[in-house]
Amino acid sequence: MEEIMKKGYNSTRSKDITVTASQGILRGLAPDGGLFVPNFIHNIQLDQTKLSKKNYGELAQVIFTAFLDDFSEKQIADAIQNAYYSGKFEEKEPVNLKKVEDRYFLELFHGPTCAFKDMALTILPYFMVESIKNVNSHNKILILTATSGDTGKAALEGFANVDDISIIVFYPKDGVSTIQEKQMLTQIGDNTCVVGISGNFDDTQNGVKEILNDVELGQKLAKSNVLFSSANSINIGRLLPQVVYYFYSYYELLNRGEIVDGEEINFVVPTGNFGNILAGYYAKQLGLPIHKLICASNANKVLTDFFETGTYDRNREFYKTSSPSMDILISSNLERLLYDLSNEDSEAVSSLMKQLNTQGSYQASKTLMEKTQLFYAGAADELETAESIKDIFEKTHYLMDPHTGVANKVYNDYLKETGDITKTVIVSTASPYKFGRAVYESIFGASDLDDYSLLDCLAQKTNTQIPAPLRDLDKKENRHSVQCHKTDMSKAVVDFLKDQEKNHA
Ligand SMILES: *Cc1c(COP(=O)(O)O)cnc(C)c1O
Repeated sequence: MEEIMKKGYNSTRSKDITVTASQGILRGLAPDGGLFVPNFIHNIQLDQTKLSKKNYGELAQVIFTAFLDDFSEKQIADAIQNAYYSGKFEEKEPVNLKKVEDRYFLELFHGPTCAFKDMALTILPYFMVESIKNVNSHNKILILTATSGDTGKAALEGFANVDDISIIVFYPKDGVSTIQEKQMLTQIGDNTCVVGISGNFDDTQNGVKEILNDVELGQKLAKSNVLFSSANSINIGRLLPQVVYYFYSYYELLNRGEIVDGEEINFVVPTGNFGNILAGYYAKQLGLPIHKLICASNANKVLTDFFETGTYDRNREFYKTSSPSMDILISSNLERLLYDLSNEDSEAVSSLMKQLNTQGSYQASKTLMEKTQLFYAGAADELETAESIKDIFEKTHYLMDPHTGVANKVYNDYLKETGDITKTVIVSTASPYKFGRAVYESIFGASDLDDYSLLDCLAQKTNTQIPAPLRDLDKKENRHSVQCHKTDMSKAVVDFLKDQEKNHA
């Protein structure tokens, strides 16, 4: 007799445990080190004829209801309202689709920290608070986050002053931009902590994963009723909000008459940890007509090589680039794609991840790679990225940040190589002002001005505006100063918890 699997979220590395959405959101990482995946994704039926006239929030309601199995309609509706329609985003709808010549830019950076991470991190805290209620927990949550620059600030902003949750963010001390660092160091909220690490993003992310899997430390915390969780894109609660904007941009194109119903479109996604593009893959699994998902990397092109050869190899030089949020050699969410493409073969995934851990590389099977046809992958180096920013600005006056610049360059290569005229949306992940120096210098050449004055200069010369959250950043006071070696991260956690206890005593 065929065993009927319980509907819920499984680990990518074993099917032994099934958890609810709330449990998955609270735990972040599965106990075996795998990532939670919805085992019902291929059974979800969305009535697309009813979706095209919905606004962003209504679409989000439909999609979240399909995934958040133990949430009530009201819990979901309130979370959407609080995240997207309570003044955190600049405009009426949280995202903006702009047509620029033959392509469309899906601007996901109009939130509180000016990067696409806001799409998920404004809503994750509400999901977590409701999850605590749904599992009847009396625990407090400590969010551990590794950041290559953008996640950290977005998570801090999202979780600041949320009851029963505190957050500690680790970032590579020399791996983020001045503006990104300043945004984090000036964060308010007594429940927040920011720590600079000597090491790169992969070291930082590995350190966090180790702490999350540290059984002894976990038990110690449990005694004081504290549970670890994660706000990184490995958390299923980060991934789901990202599915929504793929649908939203499709229906925007449809409603504007740019495409006909059912017509396939492409998305170009500047990719680091593979979270954003994986959400696009999930959208496709839910029936959205997507022709190609174009995976764009910077000089750290481990994913480009993977899609070309089937070999994932992190044993290579690590480059610091002008698109630091993509300076990643271990792309965590790829594990979820491998799981789905291998027909949910958790043993195979487990074995590949073990090889990645011990040897730093693995080779995916030929059968698996044959199923990656939906993806096209390409990369842009620093010079090409700068040229791409300059080129679009000079031709159209549209200002792109370097991450978007990478995507734009890879799309140009794709066009040249394939001649594919499918309508294409470039996912635009950060405000150009968040990476002002790189953007300015790409267009106008090197400058001696400091990073803050350069923002004013960029605004003047391009006749655009500095977004409110980045204005007067240099006048804000730093509130965080902790730094530590990459091997001392768990000590930083323990110290922060002691502080928190003192504050609440
Ligand atoms: C995080 C980030 C990315 C990469 O997204 P992933 O989901 O990690 O692939 C790209 N651009 C910006 C601006 C980001 O902050």
